[in-house]
Amino acid sequence: MTFRNPSERGTIPFDLTRFGISELGAPLLFAPCREKCNLLCIAGIHGEEPETTFLLSRVLRHFAEPLNNIAFVLCANPDGAALGTRGNANSVDLNRNFPTANWSAQTTLSRATLESERITELSSGTKPKSESETCALIELINDLNPKEILSIHSPLNCVESKHKTPLAQFLTELSQSEHKTDIGYPTPGSLGTYLGENAIHCITWELPRLAPEILHIKFAEPLADYMSKV
Ligand SMILES: [Zn+2]
Repeated sequence: MTFRNPSERGTIPFDLTRFGISELGAPLLFAPCREKCNLLCIAGIHGEEPETTFLLSRVLRHFAEPLNNIAFVLCANPDGAALGTRGNANSVDLNRNFPTANWSAQTTLSRATLESERITELSSGTKPKSESETCALIELINDLNPKEILSIHSPLNCVESKHKTPLAQFLTELSQSEHKTDIGYPTPGSLGTYLGENAIHCITWELPRLAPEILHIKFAEPLADYMSKV
């Protein structure tokens, strides 16, 4: 796998595939791989974490062609990204809308900054999978059937996964952050809980609290390098 020249990294050089449509009608896109999908990387499920999309896009733009075994969803919540909101256009936190045993209709609380109180109310949806983005992502995961999913968030600066797989180990060292086997608070209806119940290993990478360009400087090249070799 050869890297493109930095001058060529302004665009994604291969076609993205539509796997669904958002509540507001935006296309849900993914970058497929050429062979069996071993790893699916997902960014932007929370619309107010746009640095996750930026970083994953910058990683993807290193490559001239699709990777053999790694697929990418650069923005799982395009309406939230467009609106600048954590939830989607219906104020649903998509990461609480997955059909898990512990899904709850309870309001989920978030905060504007790490120092703020958790007082911003979001919905978990009227039922599990009430949102088109959740349904589409589940269908994509079923179709690709990856062994492992990397779900990128910010800004808690940790790596959480049940097993310390090579990728989890790599990300822990790369971001010099703590590896946790449990995030430490209940996440009913989350993607990670859903994947755990469906025997797909999930790594949640909470990026450190850094500006997008610093995240790019620290992580884009090493991550692209790692991905080009697995
Ligand atoms: Zn998040």
